[in-house]
Amino acid sequence: MTDPEHEPGKAPPPHSWGNISEHHWSRARKHAHREQLEYYRDRSGAPGVAAGGAERNFYCMACDGVIPYDLETRLCPHCGAAVEEHVKRYFNWVEINEPATGDARALLPFFALALLALLALTALLWWWLGGGA
Ligand SMILES: [Zn+2]
Repeated sequence: MTDPEHEPGKAPPPHSWGNISEHHWSRARKHAHREQLEYYRDRSGAPGVAAGGAERNFYCMACDGVIPYDLETRLCPHCGAAVEEHVKRYFNWVEINEPATGDARALLPFFALALLALLALTALLWWWLGGGA
């Protein structure tokens, strides 16, 4: 088995222990993901977050306005857009809660089988006790 980092003729990757060099991950990626970092810096100044984020607010999908956490809220207080009951946009993620569907349909074959067995047992008992004779 060959270690890809120790192939013959290939220089090993520079190590990053000791004094932090330019190869350390914290510096090597300094210029990566600028757009995402800018987005999070911008979100840190969002209303409801800049003040410390003590309340569990969520945000309007249409106008970015803060919507107080209340399960009864149906319309955005800023722009009047409809607030979906199961979709909440928080600081940096969107939460979609899909209510689980029932299991009754999956259990139907077992109930049918149990009912059939019960009917067969009842018929057997009826025949055995002489109900038919
Ligand atoms: Zn809104």
